[in-house]
Amino acid sequence: MLKGRTALISGSTGGIGHGTADALAAQGCNVMLNGFGDPDAIEATRSALEEKHGVKIGYHGADLRKLDEIEDLVAATERELGPVDILVNNAVVRNFSPIEEFDPVVWQDALDVNLTSGFNLIRLTLGGMRKRGYGRIVNLASTLGIMAMPDRIDYIVTKTALMGLARGVAIETQDEPNITVNAICPGAVRTPAAETRVANLAESKSISLEEATKEFLDGRQPTDRFIEPAQVGALIAFLCSDAANVITGTSIPIDDGWTISP
Ligand code: NAD
Repeated sequence: MLKGRTALISGSTGGIGHGTADALAAQGCNVMLNGFGDPDAIEATRSALEEKHGVKIGYHGADLRKLDEIEDLVAATERELGPVDILVNNAVVRNFSPIEEFDPVVWQDALDVNLTSGFNLIRLTLGGMRKRGYGRIVNLASTLGIMAMPDRIDYIVTKTALMGLARGVAIETQDEPNITVNAICPGAVRTPAAETRVANLAESKSISLEEATKEFLDGRQPTDRFIEPAQVGALIAFLCSDAANVITGTSIPIDDGWTISP
């Protein structure tokens, strides 16, 4: 159980971040949500989670490209919910472009959101975890931290680096018996982002959604099924448990066998 703990999950207005908030809140954890979106929809998500689990759910709209807003996100979490015990670096921007055509301004934004925000959030919360003798940090990497695909250079680079960030911070906290730092590497998860890509594929090829789903997953997950956000949330909730206090510095695939496929 995570009763009385507080989690900060970056980019958690939907998808895996929301699935993780749901899984942690189900264990009694207060959660600070973050990310962009329609304010009414975000408020509906926030209040629904609060009502469902009877814990405190906050929201802060920090733009993770900006250090002062990241600092404010941490300060607001501590003020409204309590010190950050669990940090999930989940926010992402995705771009699809060959490197020769990749806009350097867009590249910098991807580094800032996908990677540097995690560096700063860890930098700002790890001291408190050390003081209280408990901390869990989970970086959302990807199978694309392990493998590669064309036209995904910012994603591949930042996801690989998030695995390194977890490893590097884990070695700095090796003498802390109850602080762990890990990356997880999901395969294709049924999120709004993935569903949009499937819908675009169906439209561009004039095929059904079912056929597009199969085509999208072919060459990824041999089972032709998506991983559910709740399954990723459950893995993160396990990493936050006492039973997982000996798992640190790792990068854990949750990919239905994608990375072992020939
Ligand atoms: P998503 O695209 O649904 O959500 C991304 C979140 O980041 C949103 O809340 C968005 O508002 C937020 N965000 C973007 N820019 C921001 C900024 N400047 N400041 C603050 N917030 C910002 O994400 P998802 O598909 O649920 O994926 C979550 C994580 O899991 C990501 O790190 C992703 O790389 C990883 N992942 C996802 C999949 C998948 O299949 N969806 C697979 C492997 C890994």
